[in-house]
Amino acid sequence: MFTAFRESGAPISLYSKRWSREELELERSKTTFFCGNCKGRLILKLGNTQAWHFAHHPDSLCTHNSRRETDVHIKGKLLLMRWLHRQGYHPLEEHYIKGIKQRPDILVQMEDKMIAFELQRSALSSELFMKRQNSYLAAGIETVWAGLPPPQMKYYGVIPSRQLDNFLIRNLPVKHSIYLDIQHERWLMLTDFMYLSPKKVFAVPHFISLDKPPACILKLNDSTSHLPKYTDIYFSLWKKQIRKKRLHVYLSYTPVEKRMNRLFLQHRLNLNYFPAVAALPLKSNFNFFTPPYWWQSWIILTIINGKPLNSVVRLSETAELLYKEVKLGCFHTRPFGVHPKEKTRESAGEYLDALTLFGGVAQTHPGVYRIKSHINLYKQLDTLCNDDEYVLNKFKERLCGK
Ligand SMILES: [Zn+2]
Repeated sequence: MFTAFRESGAPISLYSKRWSREELELERSKTTFFCGNCKGRLILKLGNTQAWHFAHHPDSLCTHNSRRETDVHIKGKLLLMRWLHRQGYHPLEEHYIKGIKQRPDILVQMEDKMIAFELQRSALSSELFMKRQNSYLAAGIETVWAGLPPPQMKYYGVIPSRQLDNFLIRNLPVKHSIYLDIQHERWLMLTDFMYLSPKKVFAVPHFISLDKPPACILKLNDSTSHLPKYTDIYFSLWKKQIRKKRLHVYLSYTPVEKRMNRLFLQHRLNLNYFPAVAALPLKSNFNFFTPPYWWQSWIILTIINGKPLNSVVRLSETAELLYKEVKLGCFHTRPFGVHPKEKTRESAGEYLDALTLFGGVAQTHPGVYRIKSHINLYKQLDTLCNDDEYVLNKFKERLCGK
């Protein structure tokens, strides 16, 4: 912990100013420190590697006796306490909230709201996360979950999929997640998540200094989305990925590839021949772990091309069938925010809308489409590569509103 009382009863806090080692050693030689909760003795730890803090005797039964926290966690908390204090707030560290039996890392009142900051080092199970999230909600406390440490970006905006903490992603008002970067003493906010490959995702990084007020991470709005600025970067990455899949030599198959290969074989095709319009870089591709060229191909092969021309395709039916594939374990959704059923509906809807751009279907009413032409599956590989280029350019124009 970062606060204690001197023998005189005067409080001392390690975050309200930048103490020097000499100053604190002097304090330590002059007085004994006590816990405000149990009145027990506290030891001021001035380690070389750990963030300086007060600690109870290991045997202490005090509820403020910090669990075995990692150094990173202590450093993170200290940074946040300092940040909130400098901004004029009165943060409470590890304050026990009896009613819901929770002890948030930091609890702070901001205007008329209580906000709990939770620093999360490793991926929680989504059940545990929801349980904690809901108990805070029931107590009228807003939570800010911040990951620790931020994922590594090898290339601008490209993040290894396994490093992205899906449970940290919040849907409102825009999809985003927050990390605390202790090393550089700043926030990292990620927005505009886009699918890249089974191993990588793209997200727009925002580096926010700890000199900025909390509103920078708490009061987001739609203008926080910056994808249009990064369209070129994302599209060139996506183009590369599609090209790779066109030329990929399959020596073994993942379960979804095995399943899709059976479907393609019914049309005497192999997996390199997915239609160009089955690799559209939709925002909602991110809803899936499964690569978009597989679930989009599935919609074309089984629904669009599976029905006679001029027949009706309904979004509700398409979404239902896609969700059935998810339930059967053929396709996998990404675990964040809303229920998988809503994710499949969003993706199916965005996809059918996008297909109207390329003449495959026409929308007749909201959520109702008519099949105008079947998608031609029998093309040479070099033609498909040209199609990819054409489709991506057309799609990019739409995204940029040209
Ligand atoms: Zn105590």
